[in-house]
Amino acid sequence: MPGRFQQTISRSTSVKGFGLFTNADVCVTFQPAGENHGIVFQRVDLPGQPKIKGCITNIAAEERRTKLLEGSASVEMVEHVLAALAGLRIDNCLIQVDAPELPGCDGSALPYAAALLDGEPVQQAARRKMVVLKENSVLEDEDAVITAGPYFSGLRLSYDLNYGADSVIPAQLADFSIDPVTFASSIAGARTFVLEKEIVYLRSRGYGEKVSTSDLLVYGQDGPVDNELRAHNECARHKLLDCLGDLSLCGCDVQGHIRAFRSGHRHNHQLARLVYDLAQKKTSAVERAA
Ligand SMILES: [Zn+2]
Repeated sequence: MPGRFQQTISRSTSVKGFGLFTNADVCVTFQPAGENHGIVFQRVDLPGQPKIKGCITNIAAEERRTKLLEGSASVEMVEHVLAALAGLRIDNCLIQVDAPELPGCDGSALPYAAALLDGEPVQQAARRKMVVLKENSVLEDEDAVITAGPYFSGLRLSYDLNYGADSVIPAQLADFSIDPVTFASSIAGARTFVLEKEIVYLRSRGYGEKVSTSDLLVYGQDGPVDNELRAHNECARHKLLDCLGDLSLCGCDVQGHIRAFRSGHRHNHQLARLVYDLAQKKTSAVERAA
């Protein structure tokens, strides 16, 4: 079955803000791009304006966020932008940034999704490559498990969040079949969250100085501080959003059911690598047959 048609945006659109970790002011401009261009970041603040392809082969080790590195240029905190692009099925886009870290905004992908919709997604003539998961794969370590297996249609993501009975964040589940309408209405707005005690640690290392408790979900003993949840399972929805963004670094659509338990970026990157490798095998099999 051929994949769907690729999409880009009709006109450029921007989001301004500051990095949650580095506190640096930053402007992101989404530019239309041709068929099979893929998702490419460009550091317009650096000499030569280097480009960094949004591909799992460019992943760099970083805590609590997704960082891409190509040559000596890097860009980080890309997962929410990637989730917005993947959720809205925008496959070809040049993302120009003038700082190393993308804006944290309200900790969700909603400002990015709004900007991309404002840029008016448009269909292109080429088809999107798709990998169909035909067997179950299990990625696990002592903390987390992700299983990736067959599904009858499209991509379904399930995230099971359970930090134990003592956690201030209650156990919760998010489970969605991913399409642009569901993404925009139920996933994009889910904000990142952090424990109050973690904020103290992060601030002691110079991170997050500009962030207030109304900017993102900070969990204290009695729940979110100075904030209200957008959904009872907002934390699980956000982890699902992160997984969708990270998975998109495989560079193709996925037909399958991904079930994640307590996983984070590191596990998501392993998942993206697994699908990327399957896509490469599929391409070489098609090339051999031709
Ligand atoms: Zn996130």
